[in-house]
Amino acid sequence: MSSPITSAVRFRPGDTVAGLDLTATPGFEGSKTDAAEVQATRSARLAELQEMLYAGWKAGGDHRNVLLVLQGMDASGKGGIVKHVVGAVNPMGVRYTAFGKPTEEELAHHYLWRIRRALPPAGHIGVFDRSHYEDVLVVRVNNLVPQEVWEKRYDEINAFERELVDGGTTLVKVALFISAEEQKKQLLERLDDPTKHWKYNPGDVDERLKWPAYQQAYQAVLDRTSTDYAPWHVVPANRRWYSRLAVTELLIEALEGLDLSYPPADFDIEAERRRLLDS
Ligand code: AMP
Ligand code: MG
Repeated sequence: MSSPITSAVRFRPGDTVAGLDLTATPGFEGSKTDAAEVQATRSARLAELQEMLYAGWKAGGDHRNVLLVLQGMDASGKGGIVKHVVGAVNPMGVRYTAFGKPTEEELAHHYLWRIRRALPPAGHIGVFDRSHYEDVLVVRVNNLVPQEVWEKRYDEINAFERELVDGGTTLVKVALFISAEEQKKQLLERLDDPTKHWKYNPGDVDERLKWPAYQQAYQAVLDRTSTDYAPWHVVPANRRWYSRLAVTELLIEALEGLDLSYPPADFDIEAERRRLLDS
């Protein structure tokens, strides 16, 4: 059964990033305590569905897969989604990739080169912690390539994603949005806690100073790359317990849409039972 959260966070033409209530919990009326209970039940459901996806490939030859695309400013909770939401499933069936600043080698190729190499195998859930969208976000905001180059990328990304969907991939695109204030609070916590220094990057402050340009770039991503075959989901992320539950629900919905079942045995069960008992 799908949750009201999934339709509540689905991007609709005309939705604006500027108009978002970032402490809201669309589609969920409970408290943080209620959410913890729901989260436990739904994480278990997610794990079960993922096992069926994996089994369907491993023993049933089902080549479909799922790709979770996570985008969001620094400290928007991408890492927490990976740890807590994706962390609830069997790592055997997960292919996780974080996309940072491109290497020399990556820069020598088309921007989708490194993305294609990281696509999940059949039966797996792929997780992109940042993605090809950085090539129209950080790249656009910082003029890393001329406008005539990044302008073409929106259509190119749509065509690329069409190809993925036609090949049997279900895309779950999530944009996590926190307020500038919340980001400041989160980044300060990283500075104040020696066990979080590894997450802090002085460059984050430089990007933070370009907040309005990022808002604009995110709006363009939503307006131009939310398609019927690969829609965006806009998730308010000031409350982490909500954004985690929302992504859990989106993954469950995607997997339930595949109508999965455990593959039947391709051997004679009774004959095997006899052989085993006699052994
Ligand atoms: P983090 O996700 O915090 O480890 O940071 C990764 C950094 O790499 C972010 O500042 C991204 O904006 C940056 N990054 C990711 N993809 C690209 C790209 N295609 N071009 C330039 N910078 C990128
Ligand atoms: Mg960071």
